[in-house]
Amino acid sequence: MLKKLAVAALLGLVLLVCVVLVNTWRFQSVQTAVEAIAAPPVTVAALQHFQQAVSFRTISFADSARFEPAAFLGFRGFLEATYPLMHQTLTREVIKGYSLLYRWPGRDASLKPVVLMAHQDVVPIEEATRERWTTDPFAGTVKDEFIWGRGTTDDKINLIAICEAVEKLLQQGWVPDRTVYLAFGHDEEVGGKGAIAMAALLKQRNIAAELVMDEGGIITKEKIPGMQQPVALLGTSEKGYLSLTLTVEKPGGHSSMPESETAIDILTRALVTLRSRPFEPSFSAPMQGFIQHLGPEMPLAQKMAFANPWLFKKIIIGTYDQSAAGSAMMRTTMVPTIVQAGIKDNVIPTQAVATVNFRLLPGDESTEVIERVKTIIQDARVQVTLYSGAFAEASAVTPVRGFGYQKIARIAKKTYPALLTSPFLMLGATDSRHFGEISSNIIKFSPMIDPIGFHGIDERVSLESYQTALWFYEQLLRDLR
Ligand SMILES: [Zn+2]
Repeated sequence: MLKKLAVAALLGLVLLVCVVLVNTWRFQSVQTAVEAIAAPPVTVAALQHFQQAVSFRTISFADSARFEPAAFLGFRGFLEATYPLMHQTLTREVIKGYSLLYRWPGRDASLKPVVLMAHQDVVPIEEATRERWTTDPFAGTVKDEFIWGRGTTDDKINLIAICEAVEKLLQQGWVPDRTVYLAFGHDEEVGGKGAIAMAALLKQRNIAAELVMDEGGIITKEKIPGMQQPVALLGTSEKGYLSLTLTVEKPGGHSSMPESETAIDILTRALVTLRSRPFEPSFSAPMQGFIQHLGPEMPLAQKMAFANPWLFKKIIIGTYDQSAAGSAMMRTTMVPTIVQAGIKDNVIPTQAVATVNFRLLPGDESTEVIERVKTIIQDARVQVTLYSGAFAEASAVTPVRGFGYQKIARIAKKTYPALLTSPFLMLGATDSRHFGEISSNIIKFSPMIDPIGFHGIDERVSLESYQTALWFYEQLLRDLR
C-alpha cells in the first residue's frame, strides 16, 4: 500500500515537472524584431533650446494664488520664437488661458488623428531642499552627460523633443499622413484643468483619435529584476485615485482624567487595522501583459516562474513585493497622508481626523473600496466620507494588439538598440487620463532612459535620453500610417 502511494506521488511529481517544463518551453517571445537606426547627435541648437525651456519657472503650486502667469507667457513666447515654422503651419488655440492645443493637418483626412501630449508645468522646489541641489534648478546646466533642472524629466524633455521634431520635419517640407494634435497642458501637476478642457473641446468637435500619447513609462536598464536588456515600459493604464476622510468625534476634556478611550485612540486603531489588512495582490491586465512580454526574455528560473503563474504566483508576488513600486503594481494601495487632532498638550480633543489616500488597481472600483474600508474598520464611531479633491477610477486598459501600442512599440525599438517593450501599469496620474472619451488607444511613455530625481532633488536626464527622445518623435511623426 505504502509502496503504491510512493509510486503515485513520484508519478505526480514527474507529471508536474513535465507540465512546468513544457509550459516553459512553449513560453515563446512575443517581441517583434525591429532593426534600430542610430540616432543622430544632438545639435547645439537643440540642446540650447532644452536648456532655455528649463529656465522658465512654469511652476504649479498647490496654492493657486502663487501661480505666475508671466512664466507661462514667457514660455509661450519662447516656443513661438524658437519654432517659427511650427507656429506658421500649425493652428494654435489657447485653452484655459495657458494650455496650448496645436493642429497639424495631415495628408489623408480619412485617417483618424493622433494626439501627442506633454505638460508645460513643473512641481515646485521644496524650500527646505533648495540647498541640497547640486546645480541651480532653473539653469538647465549640462554636466556629466546630464541635463540638470526642475522639469527636465517631467515633462519638458517630451514637450521640447516634440517641438524640435515638428520644426525639423517642417524644414524638410514634410506633411504627416494623419492630422497631428499637440496638447500641451499647463496644470498637470495640480489636476489638469487645461487637459480636461482640451479633451472636452476635441470631443465637442467629434474628434476620435487613433492614438493619444503622453508621458508615462520609461526605458529602463536597471528597474526590472533579472532583466539584462533595456525595456521600454509602455503605460497601457493608470491607477485610479481616491482619498477618504476618517472622522471620530467623542467628548474630550482635561487630560488629567482621561477616559479609557479617546477620539485619537479610536482613530489610531482604525488606521492600524486598515494598514494591517492590505488589499490582496492580483495580476491586472497590464501585469499579465508584462508577464507575457518580458517573461520569455528572462533568465531560466524567472522564465519558468512567469511561464507557470498558476504554480509560482506566490513567488512572483514575493519578488515584486520587495519594492514599494513592485507591490503597488499588483494591488490597490492605501496610506494615511494627513492626521489631525488636538490643540493643546493638556486637552483631550473631541475630534480626530485622518485622510487616507488610495490608488486603485484597474478592476477595483471606488464603491467597493469604500465598502471594504468600512468592513475592515468595523467601528460605527469612525465616519468614512469622500475627501474633497481629486478623484478618478482606474483608467481603461489600452489593448496591446491595437494601433497605438503596436505603433509605439515599433518606433521605440527603431530608436533604441536591443530594446524590449512591455505593457505597464502607471502608478501615478497623467493628463492623458482625461482623454478616455477621445481614444481607446492611450499610451503613456516617455522615451528616456532611467531618469533621476523625478519630482525631487537634482532632477536630471541624460544627454542620451534627449537624443533618444528627439529621434523617437521624429520617427513617430514620419511613420503614422
Ligand atoms: Zn508629468
